[in-house]
Amino acid sequence: MAVEQIYSAIVASPGLVHGPLFVDQAGASFIEAEDSPAEALDRLTAAAETAKQQLESLAAETDEDAQEILEFQIELLGDPELVAPARGAIEQGASAAVAWRRAIGSLIEDYEADEDAYFQARATDLKDLRERVLRALSGMTDDAPQATDGIYVAEDLAPSRFLEIDWSRFKGAALTGGSTAGHVAILARARGVPMLIGLEAPLESLGEGTDAVLDAEDGRLVVSPTPNHLDDYQARIATREATLATERAFLPKPAVTASGERIRLMVNIDDPAVLDAIDPAHCDGIGLARTELQFYGLIEKTGSLPDEEVQYRLYSRLVKWADGHPVTIRTLDAGADKPIPGLTREGETNPFLGVRGLRLSLAHPEVFKVQLRALARAATEGELKVMFPMVTAPWEFDAACELFDDAVSELRIEGTAAATPALGMMVEVPAAALGIARFDADFFSIGSNDLIQYVTAVNREEKRLVQLFDPLDPGVLELVARVADCGRDEGKEVSLCGDMASDPRCIPALLQAGLRSLSVAPAALGRAKAAIAAWGGEG
Ligand code: PEP
Ligand code: MG
Repeated sequence: MAVEQIYSAIVASPGLVHGPLFVDQAGASFIEAEDSPAEALDRLTAAAETAKQQLESLAAETDEDAQEILEFQIELLGDPELVAPARGAIEQGASAAVAWRRAIGSLIEDYEADEDAYFQARATDLKDLRERVLRALSGMTDDAPQATDGIYVAEDLAPSRFLEIDWSRFKGAALTGGSTAGHVAILARARGVPMLIGLEAPLESLGEGTDAVLDAEDGRLVVSPTPNHLDDYQARIATREATLATERAFLPKPAVTASGERIRLMVNIDDPAVLDAIDPAHCDGIGLARTELQFYGLIEKTGSLPDEEVQYRLYSRLVKWADGHPVTIRTLDAGADKPIPGLTREGETNPFLGVRGLRLSLAHPEVFKVQLRALARAATEGELKVMFPMVTAPWEFDAACELFDDAVSELRIEGTAAATPALGMMVEVPAAALGIARFDADFFSIGSNDLIQYVTAVNREEKRLVQLFDPLDPGVLELVARVADCGRDEGKEVSLCGDMASDPRCIPALLQAGLRSLSVAPAALGRAKAAIAAWGGEG
């Protein structure tokens, strides 16, 4: 019998699940780019051949229905609709992995958009095929099992890669790298995917398919649990599910404190794919839409930033979804842990203090303008609000507003309907929080993730310093209260959209600091309402 192994880790997204391990070497290592297009083409051809052989041997061993699916994948590997764009991208300098992701990504999107349920279902097969070829490209010779209901284990994940993975196939994730305040953890919390980071286990020692418990309550991965431990865990899993059911019961209710005060509770939308799973009636609109994360899939597909029309459709979809509630869209916050090749700067010594957020947008007005035009068009369709990230000085905010006005004027001269929405700013730089009264913004939204990082001088990506990255640090709470006070004095809305709003342990302190508007991860709506309902204004 296998010996139980317990590996410690840090909780990045809470949960408790049991299942077989799926060790993703392909996700772990970035697939290296080739030196020349000829080499890239050779590697892609070889990887496709490996994938084909794997599929053929699987097809030989399986039943008729599964065979049909596998044959569909085999056929696709030779389909000119897939091969030609991949080849074209390689000829233009893309690596084999990028070219493959782009070509198949575009096909996946076409299948997903098809009205025919048959084609929609086939999109999942295409995603499987994408992963299989990427695994072959990463040098994995064996055919990793396709986990269902398993625990995903890898070294680290880029946010773009997290968004590509079909999380309905996994119960949770454990990463040896990662950080609690990084964007992968934020995405995991948004979707309610239990996640451990900083897992202290050598990946090669974790056997594929081994039974394990991902304990994202106490921060450990228990591999091959003893029957006694497994019984204990099953009981805890049942208790947790009962708690989740209680929190879910709060979903249809408005967010109200124990003393009857109504709190505005909105959601953060990082990935439009989650919209279908949220009932707009359960929240007071969207408090933060991170556009850079929404762009990732589109960049992967085309190799460039989405154009005005594509962006307009994206924003318009959010406005329509919200059904009359306000929708706050944040302009591009690229840089630091959210690089966009060709736009963000490489090699900055301290990218979190570098050219990111609004600083980057102002340095690239030609890129910024496209986004502002798309937003100005969507602003005619509902209660859109726009905010700028990483604002440090009033002149930056004013410059962004001027560019917005220019975008609106241009559109109107062209005869296109456009409007100027409420323009606000993220408060995530201490200088901005301290000097908040100097900013002529329509509203403020506190970005506590970055504010904590800058107040505590702890890189939010640094897993060894999570203890110091403390949302309840008195310095952080003092700044939150200062911004809330300014909003109250000036009659401006102040909300908080960083991750501490989704943490029931922080909600009392935020309400105590004077906030009456919060924006949380979709998966946290029920528990945030429960925490608000328990707060009686004491303290
Ligand atoms: C924040 O900093 O709190 C925030 C909401 O923005 P992001 O996490 O995308 O930096
Ligand atoms: Mg931020």
